[in-house]
Amino acid sequence: MQQNDCKLCKYLGGSVRAINEVPRYVEENVGKVSFSEMTRQIIDILQAEGVTMTAQEIEVHFTKHTQTPKVVLGRILADLHDVMAVAKSEVVVTDEENHTSINPKALQSYLETVKNITAIYKMDGMKST
Ligand SMILES: [Zn+2]
Repeated sequence: MQQNDCKLCKYLGGSVRAINEVPRYVEENVGKVSFSEMTRQIIDILQAEGVTMTAQEIEVHFTKHTQTPKVVLGRILADLHDVMAVAKSEVVVTDEENHTSINPKALQSYLETVKNITAIYKMDGMKST
């Protein structure tokens, strides 16, 4: 979907109140509400004013059209949180005899991801409003 076919881009600033409220809603909730839940709520908000969009179209809007720091960084954070969870689950290794050891590669990935997540939270664009 091209940007000029996207209803959230095309009709922004127009007469549909719900579309004009989406950017503010997203800015206020990014980091607090998951993108999938925001998408679900946006679908309902738009539907109430007769605008039909699919979850996939809204996903494309978030990933390809929205370039505000909070949304871009919010998406990166969500991805890094997924990476962190996988890395963390592989840090402690238990063998068949129930002996535990550390997987150094997984530990390094985990710590590296934590460092990157922490750095994003310190960025000006991520400060709470
Ligand atoms: Zn868009």
